[in-house]
Amino acid sequence: MSRQQQAVVRARKAFETGRSRPLEYRIHQLKNLQRLLNERRKEIVDALKKDLKRSDESSQLFELVTVEAEINLMLKNLKEWASARPASKTLVTLADTVYIQPEPLGVVLIIGAWNYPWAVTIQPLIGAIAAGNAAVVKPSEVCVHTAKVMEELLPVYLDKELYPVVTGGVPETQELLRQKYDHIFYTGNSTVGKIIMEAAAKHLTPVTLELGGKSPCYIDKNCDISMACRRITWGKYSNCGQTCIAPDYILCEPSIQDRVIEEVKKSIKEFYTDNPKTCPDYARIINQRHFKRIMNMMEGSKIAVGGDNDESDCYIAPTVLRDVKPEAKVMQDEIFGPLLPIVLVSGLDEAITFINKREKPLALYIFAQDDKMIKKMRDQTSSGGLVANDCLQHFAISSLPFGGVGNSGMGAYHGKFSFDQLSHLRGCLIKKLNNEAMNSMRYPPHTPKKLDWVRFFVLKATGMGWMKPVMLLALLAMVTAVVLQMSDVAGFTYE
Ligand code: NAD
Repeated sequence: MSRQQQAVVRARKAFETGRSRPLEYRIHQLKNLQRLLNERRKEIVDALKKDLKRSDESSQLFELVTVEAEINLMLKNLKEWASARPASKTLVTLADTVYIQPEPLGVVLIIGAWNYPWAVTIQPLIGAIAAGNAAVVKPSEVCVHTAKVMEELLPVYLDKELYPVVTGGVPETQELLRQKYDHIFYTGNSTVGKIIMEAAAKHLTPVTLELGGKSPCYIDKNCDISMACRRITWGKYSNCGQTCIAPDYILCEPSIQDRVIEEVKKSIKEFYTDNPKTCPDYARIINQRHFKRIMNMMEGSKIAVGGDNDESDCYIAPTVLRDVKPEAKVMQDEIFGPLLPIVLVSGLDEAITFINKREKPLALYIFAQDDKMIKKMRDQTSSGGLVANDCLQHFAISSLPFGGVGNSGMGAYHGKFSFDQLSHLRGCLIKKLNNEAMNSMRYPPHTPKKLDWVRFFVLKATGMGWMKPVMLLALLAMVTAVVLQMSDVAGFTYE
């Protein structure tokens, strides 16, 4: 049996013992994870520094704080989210108990990406633990040091049978994908996303695909351009542009292009000094393969700001490209690096047409003062998330579902959405073996009279929204009285 297969078999056996189910156990594991983040912070940020040359503060700001906040949120709400959720009844089911019971799915495979490895690997794990699952964790091999830290530390703090870490590259991941899971949660690019979905289809395993793509950013000429560019600069060049929801390119009118360039340049200087190469807050491209890929993308475009680079250090300066044509190399694929192309359009309408001609993005940004423009962008386009007058910030709002649509992914997570995504929401109807009078209208022989009753209860009674609340209450009271008389309603408790 391969190492990957062993991990999955052990995780399933551990799940079958039922120990991941009790809330106390889930809470205990989440608290252990919290402890890991507190006690081993240094090892975590050191590894991130080796992988991405990020400063300790940036790593904490960009991922650890979010992961810690997610654990806190789960601990605070788990009892409520895991409880049965009452569902509304119809007149026919008035005497029954109708509710939704979240239940664990089983064994979840979590495949992470390298750009924010803790956020994209551990955040789904938090959801999996909270929902009572076992989870096989596969960190990205591209962030070599972080994958090693996860492999070493997670088993020390967590139940290592229920939540094994399996490291490795493509062959190891493919071996993992040959096994059977109850859910696969993948973060990475769309090409591999298709491989994941194909593997999952063999076992009819549901998937969450957190993918990427080109996230557009429209700037209206009448907005506060200086403020807009400050926020865009932050969103674009954080983590050296290796952010799935980074604004990929700017769309604006020709009249403001020079101003946009000047303002972005000013903000680059403010955030990363005159020489970003020596600024501790400016990260590096993850490896030389990606360095070459990004440098290649610049070909044929005019550099307005930056452009300098150093292959031996995987350094590419914060760069702005001007007058970029839609056919340019840099406009073909997600950039995932510190290049910011400006594509000129005649206004909001053309920007919308431009966006709609392409794949649905993961994030869509608009900078505008006019609410009508924001609403128009929202109503006439589609994307995983929409943010007006800022960048990236929706990722940190756990009450919003985070995920893509179309080519940018399927499924969503964060907070309660993670819990629900990795649970089965089981519909439960609990009846009593009495009150047969109410049921007789559905049993043969089917007669016109019985059908009239069915029509009354199913169609008329549900279409009574127009009735005055008092009348509706009176009718409900009447039907309840009848039903209660016919049945012996002993209160059923969910727990
Ligand atoms: P990556 O190279 O780390 O790959 C992701 C995972 O897929 C890894 O664990 C890797 O082992 C596995 N993998 C790679 N090739 C495989 C193959 N042929 N078969 C099976 N498994 C394979 O990461 P990446 O794809 O370079 O990540 C960058 C992409 O991820 C970007 O497109 C980015 O936008 C996207 N992303 C999305 C989110 C999100 O939340 N939506 C977050 C981060 C990154």
